[in-house]
Amino acid sequence: MDKAKAYSAAGATTPLALDTIPRRAVTDRDVKIEILFCGICHSDLHTVRNEWSSVMETVYPCVPGHEIVGRVTAVGAAVSRHEVGDLVGVGCLVDSDHTCPACRADMEQFCPGAVFTYNGPDRHLGGVTYGGYSESVVVDEAFVLRVPANLDLAGVAPLLCAGITTYSPLRHWKVGPGKKVGVVGLGGLGHMGVKFARAFGAHVVVFTTSPEKAKDALRLGAHEVVNSRDADAMAKHAFSFDFILDTVSADHDVNAYIGLLSLDGNLTLVGAPEKPLPVSSFALLFGRKSVSGSLIGGIAETQEMLDFCGEHGITADVEVIPIQQVNEAYERMLRSDVKYRFCIDMASLKNA
Ligand code: NAP
Ligand code: ZN
Repeated sequence: MDKAKAYSAAGATTPLALDTIPRRAVTDRDVKIEILFCGICHSDLHTVRNEWSSVMETVYPCVPGHEIVGRVTAVGAAVSRHEVGDLVGVGCLVDSDHTCPACRADMEQFCPGAVFTYNGPDRHLGGVTYGGYSESVVVDEAFVLRVPANLDLAGVAPLLCAGITTYSPLRHWKVGPGKKVGVVGLGGLGHMGVKFARAFGAHVVVFTTSPEKAKDALRLGAHEVVNSRDADAMAKHAFSFDFILDTVSADHDVNAYIGLLSLDGNLTLVGAPEKPLPVSSFALLFGRKSVSGSLIGGIAETQEMLDFCGEHGITADVEVIPIQQVNEAYERMLRSDVKYRFCIDMASLKNA
């Protein structure tokens, strides 16, 4: 067993601080990765503050981080997909049972035995898994992704969660030419949703509570921007959307968006606010509309997304920070002041 420097939270109200965590010795199937960049997802904040306790209680100390890119420093004897020196990524999943129907359908995220990158049951060391706010990680090669060589690494890290979480539902709901698509919330997930929906050829409309983001929304690929607090601006889009992707991290009125869907339209929630959102059945009845959820994506689809990004030159817009600024970044994320993903330069942990 090795030790690694990390940033952890000791409790739900405790700021993240320097810590030392165990990392397992490399087994036959493992890849050891020196972490170069790790994105900051709003899920990290929800978990650190135990906001999802009704679904999964946070175990402390908690080391978040599931948007990992790094360089392979060691491989186990049976590893065939990766070599020492390769640039690789790790997202939200580090293990699954490989045998259930979901795994056989390449949807490991829905495996009953799926192990998340942090706050999941660690089958090797006991306790819970520790994420990417750390200098290194050891992961089964089946959950290690290839990173396209032509992309900026800091901008690649957020693809491992924000990227796949938006790519997957946009593909599933066949977003493309001739479709009018809404993206609600222009944060980490939302800005990737805009880039993908545009790249897939749809007409893209951003809904934001931050009108000052309008110019950025257009630059990122939106055709139109709507201030979601302006009832008249919202009403102009009534019954007109094929698909809406809702990325909002906090309490908000989903019925306002269901009203904008056209016949058989779908609203997919990827945002995971702490409290349940009331859905009006009447909003759904008139137009046979549906509301769905979507959870990250499987490993094969995550690789497909990374390859798509390589071909189309797509990365996240990142504000790179040293790890010492992580607590401040959380506060800014809560104020919707993120343009459009914080990404930790893990070199800052070396001398911490
Ligand atoms: P983020 O960067 O903080 O973005 C969230 C955006 O939502 C904000 O930038 C803001 O956009 C909008 N927003 C925030 N508070 C709001 C409010 N009270 N009312 C209306 N809009 C509000 O967060 P993120 O990392 O993109 O994550 C978004 C959510 O997705 C989180 O709940 C996260 O846990 C969840 N998530 C789910 C999955 C999955 O697999 N389903 C994966 C990753 C993350 P504007 O300023 O434009 O209004
Ligand atoms: Zn995430």
